[in-house]
Amino acid sequence: MVAELIEGGPIAEKINREVRRDIEAMGLTPRLVGILASDNPGAKYYAKSQEKACAEVGIAYELHQLAPDSSQRDIERHVAAVNEDESVSGMILLMPVPEGVNAREVQQAILPDKDAEGMHPANIGKLFYGDFSLAPCTPHAVVRMLEDTGVDLKGKETVVVGHSEIVGKPTVVMLLQSILGSPTVTCCHIATRDLASHTRRAEVLIVAAGKAGLVSGEMVKEGAVVIDVGINRVKVEVEGKRKTKIVGDVDFEAARERASLITPVPGGVGLVTTAMLLRNSVECARRM
Ligand code: NAD
Repeated sequence: MVAELIEGGPIAEKINREVRRDIEAMGLTPRLVGILASDNPGAKYYAKSQEKACAEVGIAYELHQLAPDSSQRDIERHVAAVNEDESVSGMILLMPVPEGVNAREVQQAILPDKDAEGMHPANIGKLFYGDFSLAPCTPHAVVRMLEDTGVDLKGKETVVVGHSEIVGKPTVVMLLQSILGSPTVTCCHIATRDLASHTRRAEVLIVAAGKAGLVSGEMVKEGAVVIDVGINRVKVEVEGKRKTKIVGDVDFEAARERASLITPVPGGVGLVTTAMLLRNSVECARRM
C-alpha cells in the first residue's frame, strides 16, 4: 500500500476562501498585532510570514517590536494597552520571550476575545464543551485535516504522541468531542513505556513530539491515517554538501508504504495552522 497524501495547501486555501468571504460579509478589516520582545531572526522571519499570510486574505498585521530585555511587567503593560485599543481585534505573543518572562502569564493577560492563538485558559476551557470558535491553531488544523479526509472517526483507535499544552493536550480534548464522531483516544508522551505497542494499533496516528524519526515505518499500522505535526531541522548530505532539511517526526517514506493517508512535512499541518490563525483573527474581529 502507498498512502495518499493529505496535503495542507488545498485545505489551507479552502479555509482562506472562507476567511476572505467572512471578512467581506463583516465589512470590517481585522487588525492583528504580533508582539515580539526578541531579536531572534527566526521569530522575525515568522512574523514576516504571518504578515504576508494576513495580507493575502485582507487582514491588517502590525508587528510591535519590544526591547529584547523587556521585563514581564513591560510586556504585560504593552498587552494591556493593546487590549484597550479598540482598533485592534486580535493579538499574538511571539516566541521566544526574554529570559525570566513567563510566556503563559503574558498570554493570560490577553483579553480572551483578542486571543488569536486560542491559548487563553478561557478559550482552551471551551474546548471541553465542544466550542472550537477560538481553538489553538495547530490542534484545530489537525482536526480539520482529519475531517477533510472524510474518514469516520467513530470508535477509531486514535493515538496522539505528545502532551504539550500547545499541541498534544488540546488535540486530545478536541478529538474527544462527540462532534468529531467519538474516537477512542490514547495520549502517549515521554514517559510512555513501549511507544510502538501503542502506535502499532493506531488506526489514526497523530505525532507531535519534535523528534525526527521517532516513528519508524514498522511502528505504523497497515492502513492507518497518519498526521505528522513535527517540524525538525536535520542536516543531510546532498552531493557532498551539508544541507538543512525540514522533516517531521515520522519516517515519511517508510510510513507511506503502510499508511492509507499521510501528511507530508513540509506542506502538511503547518500550512493549515497558519490558515487557522487567520480564521481565529476573523473570529476575534467578529467578537468586536
Ligand atoms: P514540546 O516539546 O512542547 O512537546 C513535545 C511532546 O512530545 C511532549 O509532550 C513530550 O512528552 C513528547 N515526547 C518527546 N519525546 C518523546 C518520546 N521519545 N516518546 C514519546 N513522546 C515524546 O513540543 P510541541 O510544542 O508540542 O511541538 C511538537 C512538535 O510539533 C515540534 O516539532 C514542533 O516544532 C511542531 N509544531 C508544529 C506546528 C505546525 O504548525 N506544524 C505547530 C506547533 C508545533
